[in-house]
Amino acid sequence: MAARLNRSAADIVRFLLQQGEMVTATQSLSDDMIELFAAELGAEVRITEPGAEQEEELLRALEVDLVDEGAQIRPPVVTVMGHVDHGKTLLLDRIRSSNVVEGEAGGITQHIGAYQTTRSDHRITFIDTPGHEAFTAMRARGAQATDVVVLVVAADDGVMPQTAEAIDHAQAADVPIIVAINKMDRPGADADRVRAQLAERGLVPESYGGEVITVPMSAMTGEGIDELLDQILLVAELEELTAPASGRAVGIVLEAHLDRGRGPVATVLVQRGTLRIGEPMVAGAAWGRVRAMTDDRGAPLSEAGPSMPVEVLGLGEVARSGDLFVVAPDEKTAGKVAETREHWQRQASLAGTAGGSGGGARLEDIFKQVQAGETATLNLVLKADVHGSLEAVTDSLRKLEREDVKLSFVSRGVGGINENDVQLAAASEATIIGFNVRPDRNARQTAETEDVEVRLYEIIYDLISDVQNAMVGLLEPEFEEIVVGEAQVRQVFRISGVGPVAGCVVEHGSVRSGAKVRFLRDGTIIWKGAVSSLRHFQDDVAEVSAGMECGIGLSDFSDLKEGDVIETYTEREIARVA
Ligand code: GDP
Repeated sequence: MAARLNRSAADIVRFLLQQGEMVTATQSLSDDMIELFAAELGAEVRITEPGAEQEEELLRALEVDLVDEGAQIRPPVVTVMGHVDHGKTLLLDRIRSSNVVEGEAGGITQHIGAYQTTRSDHRITFIDTPGHEAFTAMRARGAQATDVVVLVVAADDGVMPQTAEAIDHAQAADVPIIVAINKMDRPGADADRVRAQLAERGLVPESYGGEVITVPMSAMTGEGIDELLDQILLVAELEELTAPASGRAVGIVLEAHLDRGRGPVATVLVQRGTLRIGEPMVAGAAWGRVRAMTDDRGAPLSEAGPSMPVEVLGLGEVARSGDLFVVAPDEKTAGKVAETREHWQRQASLAGTAGGSGGGARLEDIFKQVQAGETATLNLVLKADVHGSLEAVTDSLRKLEREDVKLSFVSRGVGGINENDVQLAAASEATIIGFNVRPDRNARQTAETEDVEVRLYEIIYDLISDVQNAMVGLLEPEFEEIVVGEAQVRQVFRISGVGPVAGCVVEHGSVRSGAKVRFLRDGTIIWKGAVSSLRHFQDDVAEVSAGMECGIGLSDFSDLKEGDVIETYTEREIARVA
């Protein structure tokens, strides 16, 4: 910065010192400090996100073609929103299952994050992660996937706080809303009362002389669902939704996760052009050749056109939901773009931790700082099992921010907690929060030596309430889980009458019969339960210790794979220091 302003670093340090800010020449400056110094010189500064300018260049390199020539009608993309328990999930399930022709792939549909249904020969795409949090998280990334919002309001409950929030979000995004007045089968159902409440919120129903379509229905009995689909098609027609089906595909990532057998998996929504197998694609900072594509029924596809959601294999990394994806002109460009983005994303996350007066605090002692009247910043390293939950947890945590307690995400990512995460947390005085993931052994050891606080959750509510309580100094005593043993699955035996048994080697500690188990795949918890049978060769045994082989049977869990880890643990209550 000094060089850009024709000054020396010492000039800046001196100036900031006069303003009461202690900095050294090798330290990163906060935006405020930069602006302060620039103002002193009368210089103009424009603060951009790291990589923002480079991004424009990258898009040029990708030669994204946004000409609408040859555009054709495309299916509408629908997101379902509404208050909790008003029936979003049941509605989505009903629409999905009514469309599955019996016998087809056993009638089983896959949850890939979105699906298509057909009504009177027209297709409709539903994004099946309901809720405005996902919707807004995407919009925050500049991604707009949704053409129509279906707002579900229970007829016996009426407009509730999250209904109002959903209305705000849909209106902010300028997306048309259709109101599904659900649970009409319930005794207390009153569609007119709901319409009156909507009118009060500025969503004036047609029967009140307004334009908002309301459809009384029941996700339980199925009544009104066809009518709802017809109305969606009607709105879509009015909106004249079109996209060119030719040309390189462009779209967005709806969901992404790491699958042990298949590698990074992403569900993408094609928004224009056609995506084909073998093409080099870039999704945010991830890239790869499309190796395979499947639809929401698990059927393989060779190409996917506009508004089609598909699960894609072949990316080298786990993409982020909300990221834009583009098919690149060639593999080299794809690789270069992804690499550049990764570089800037890393810079951005470092910039987030650098400088920052006041320093960070850990969850345990955040309240002390608050009490002392200081503005406290809670630094967090957040890891979660899938992108969807990562976004949801982030959004919920963001809402807890107050004037006196700020949150700063040192890093956020998908996957198990590794040593890197712990090092990063140690360096930035951060608390690690894991949602449905676990630290591996190295991470655990480093956390102990570096005294890094690692908190693990499987229920989002617990996570949020812990952070909230920490902010007011009410952190409850915690149950510490002590890992007793760790066994790695080497082979899976299917024994009739018994089910699958994991042939394991105990790598650490010991495994006891009946012990509580966390079943891990790539550091992610995929099941919890207990050891139901334990054998050493042909004998049932009570305990098997490190270095020995054993056969482990698990209560009601059979999705065993080679390389999985069976972690056994006990619980102990630990008192919190005040
Ligand atoms: P969400 O939180 O909005 O996803 O709501 P769910 O789809 O999970 O529904 C909440 C509860 O309401 C569940 O027990 C559903 O079975 C029930 N429910 C949903 N739709 C209807 C309906 O139309 N009629 C009745 N009687 N119950 C419904």
